[in-house]
Amino acid sequence: MSTLPERHPGGSELSSYLDGGLSDRRTKAVARHVEACPACGRELAALRKVSSALASQEEVEPRPGWLSRVQEQVAAGARPASTARIRHRLRLRLAGGIAAVAVGLVSVGLWLAPPPPAPVSFQDEVRQHLVQMSNPLSDQTSYVVEARYP
Ligand SMILES: [Zn+2]
Repeated sequence: MSTLPERHPGGSELSSYLDGGLSDRRTKAVARHVEACPACGRELAALRKVSSALASQEEVEPRPGWLSRVQEQVAAGARPASTARIRHRLRLRLAGGIAAVAVGLVSVGLWLAPPPPAPVSFQDEVRQHLVQMSNPLSDQTSYVVEARYP
């Protein structure tokens, strides 16, 4: 049973070893280790498989003309269906809110409106008239109305 020359390299060190990103001393040490250590040898093999699979991935190109098709749809006012429905619902709710506010304003206006004028007596009419003329006698409750005849 051979003794392992080094501690087990971690996954990131194995990855750096594959990429050639280790110092010469570490590269030699890891190479010696993975030859002697079956577990690290398996891990290195798995890493090599993953990196070669990634390297063979082709870049995905969009189909020709997709950008102009998207631009046409945006220019035509295309929106996702769900967004359109949300906007419609929002508009309905807004309209309902405006109607409710209008009803509220009308009822407040009716409430604030003065009651219809009650029929006033001749005395009250004179007093109101004197109050309007800032007559000091206007706080009397009764008046003697003089009729002057020429
Ligand atoms: Zn090992």
